[in-house]
Amino acid sequence: MLIGVLGGGQLGQMIALAGLPMGLRFRFLDPSAEACAAAAGELHVGSFTDSAAIDRFVQNLDAVTFEFENVPASAVHHAASCRPTHPSARSLEVGQDRGKEKALFASVGLDVPRYVLSRTTEHLDSAIESLGFPVVVKTVREGYDGKGQRVVRDEASKRSAIEAMGSVEVIVEDLVAFHREVSLIGVRSVTGEMAFYPLTENVHQSGMLRVSTPRADDPLQPEAERVGRAILESLGHVGVLAIEFFVERDANGKERLLGNELAPRVHNSGHWTQDASETSQFENHLRAILGWPLGRTSLTRTCVMVNMVGRVPGREDLLGVGGARAWPRIHVYGKSSRAGRKVGHVNVVGESLPAVESLVTSLRAVTLRAEAMA
Ligand code: AMP
Repeated sequence: MLIGVLGGGQLGQMIALAGLPMGLRFRFLDPSAEACAAAAGELHVGSFTDSAAIDRFVQNLDAVTFEFENVPASAVHHAASCRPTHPSARSLEVGQDRGKEKALFASVGLDVPRYVLSRTTEHLDSAIESLGFPVVVKTVREGYDGKGQRVVRDEASKRSAIEAMGSVEVIVEDLVAFHREVSLIGVRSVTGEMAFYPLTENVHQSGMLRVSTPRADDPLQPEAERVGRAILESLGHVGVLAIEFFVERDANGKERLLGNELAPRVHNSGHWTQDASETSQFENHLRAILGWPLGRTSLTRTCVMVNMVGRVPGREDLLGVGGARAWPRIHVYGKSSRAGRKVGHVNVVGESLPAVESLVTSLRAVTLRAEAMA
């Protein structure tokens, strides 16, 4: 079977790496001839808005999916008119719009930070005033990895945010003093079967994910799954979907979930599933879109994922840090070095969390040294 993937980045590459052993083959459509997924399948270089390119791309495909959410919905509509295509353009459209995400969260009973949508400079000023400092201003569309967002704490940062973002549609929301951040990776098949991975605790820096730790028995798991199930069903979503939450803690130490955003695709905070779950998120995504039975999603061993940003360290430095109780599994995407770009990740696995965390500390030093040279 030949699967088409809109987008040729690392997520596409890892979907293909999971599908090859199941007998699947892959074709990618990406505007860049440098797209790294080409290592794992056939690359068509073309624009997502070029309908002739999409017509060529879909020829002989058995199914189509996408790996990144800034693919125009029109490309997904076009593919869906010719081939089975999952997730749908509807899931994509919600994932592309922070306002629609918030409305969906509210509709399933998930609280969100207070927010105001704004389209003009004058309105942005009054939106910030109405919430009061500190707030975060984010573009409604096309932001990722901390791009397209600013924290506003005072008049000076307000003025510069208005100058930079006053002319586009933005969302202004309370800056949440969260206690921690978690994400839920869920998957729903064409058949309606659903599965959820254990909640993952995430650490971001300047808006970009750096470290993810799956938690086998997070007390918030049942509530997160309730929300996840309702969202997957409400969208009629097929494939993997990730939901990112802030966790707030009240004066008595009781935690509650606040919805931040969703991604209607495989997600960086689920990369640990490659080395510490029976079935990776990438394999389950493929099983879901093809209507095959979903695989087990439990955590099989202690794992912490560390992103490599900017530049990949020497392999001997990465692979030389392991010991008998914790060791690294490296995933390098084959992308050229560039500051702020995700170029790979390491899943540190091992016998116990202390052993894994101590290795993560030395690995972080190695990856940050390389990053400084990007
Ligand atoms: P996002 O692109 O919305 O996922 O934001 C990336 C990261 O920026 C989040 O994971 C948080 O670490 C931080 N962030 C975004 N929005 C807020 C907020 N309203 N309050 C506090 N931190 C935020």
